Amino acid sequence: MPGNWRSSIGWLTALAVAGVFALGIWLHPRPVASLLASASGAGLSRPITFAPSQPKLLVAPVSTSSPTPGVTATSPLAASETPVATAASQAASLASTPAHAIAQPTPVPANDELAEVVTPTPPVEIEGVAARQGGVPILMYHYIRVNPVKSDRAGFILSVTPADFAQQMRLLADNGFHTVTMAQVRAYVRDGKPLPPKPVAVTLDDGYDDAYTAARPILERYHQTATFFIITGFVDHPRYVTWGQVEALDHEGFEIGSHTVHHPSLPRLGAPSLRFELETSRSTLESHLGHPVLDFCYPGGELDQAVLAGVARAGYLAATTTRSAVAQRGQNPLELPRLRVWGGMTLRYFASIVG
Ligand SMILES: [Zn+2]
Repeated sequence: MPGNWRSSIGWLTALAVAGVFALGIWLHPRPVASLLASASGAGLSRPITFAPSQPKLLVAPVSTSSPTPGVTATSPLAASETPVATAASQAASLASTPAHAIAQPTPVPANDELAEVVTPTPPVEIEGVAARQGGVPILMYHYIRVNPVKSDRAGFILSVTPADFAQQMRLLADNGFHTVTMAQVRAYVRDGKPLPPKPVAVTLDDGYDDAYTAARPILERYHQTATFFIITGFVDHPRYVTWGQVEALDHEGFEIGSHTVHHPSLPRLGAPSLRFELETSRSTLESHLGHPVLDFCYPGGELDQAVLAGVARAGYLAATTTRSAVAQRGQNPLELPRLRVWGGMTLRYFASIVG
């Protein structure tokens, strides 16, 4: 029948087109995946310069500094495609944040990640590592977790496992290092106030919930302190700390710093939005903590002269970047460099950057 003949031709054509399409996909694997794979193999001669994981946008459609590809991150958007929220809309979105519903600190879960932490580890051997010549390394962490999506290379790089973090803190404890707060770093850089021997500052960006559930118990076990840079607009949202946890960290002696309200790329903001991100994050933290918050962290390490001036005008006394170096006395405290600790870093390499 002519109708059946035409139908058969149609099916054959459709199959042929589908075959050609499938062949095209096979021959052109995802460029992002291959890019990340090649970047992650860059070697240990220098820190890998991945941008921090961009928290999932939960509050307002502000611009993103360096979106990270991956299942759990927002889709990368070109700057021109990304609307920058006005200060008014950001204020409105902040008002929608359920800050009044302060949750109690969640108990530390007995999950696989933490079971890994308590596994005995052999003594750390750091002999042969060159001694540092002055200054204070400010270590930069993001997640303290086992990366949940194995194919997410960026997520892997940003995720130091609880077991590795425990080994790193144990190395510091066992080898005469002294972790210091950003307040101490500030006093050293600005005023030359001496630091204890072998000082190291530990900073954790973005305020993910594992800062409280995984990093905190390890820091306490090895009697180390740290500074947590909080994105105030994301607090109390899934995967982030609660206000109760932020307050608990502060009460336990950890330092809390500002990481803006929404983690935007600050150089892209107009003056009102820039001022809002800098000042409202600080005042929100101060209202919860009841004392001044004087340390700031640039989202994605992005800053320019206008941002620098805004940070000073907002009253911050120190600010951390993602530039890779050891912080030194006498440098601008609003442009403090840090050293990234990435997922999979060997303990020996860790020893070399703090040594
Ligand atoms: Zn960040």
